[in-house]
Amino acid sequence: MCAYRPAVADSADCVGMVMDNICRKCFGKMKPGKAIQQTYTGYPDFPNCAVVTLSPGGPGRLVDCDKCEKCGHSVATEGDGE
Ligand SMILES: [Zn+2]
Repeated sequence: MCAYRPAVADSADCVGMVMDNICRKCFGKMKPGKAIQQTYTGYPDFPNCAVVTLSPGGPGRLVDCDKCEKCGHSVATEGDGE
């Protein structure tokens, strides 16, 4: 099958909204920080999409994040991300 999906969502563990600086996973305390959200470019190695090579592409971008002190879960604090 040909269900290729870019790994952008996985590479940037900085998704979702933060609520009152409390981790939604373990309810620990969130610390503000920065994270590089890498952008990726993918090329199918074969026409049938059996293998896709993903390589970092573009400059990436710096995003504001809150990171949990306990479990390391991080969320973006900016509200305009898609
Ligand atoms: Zn946590």
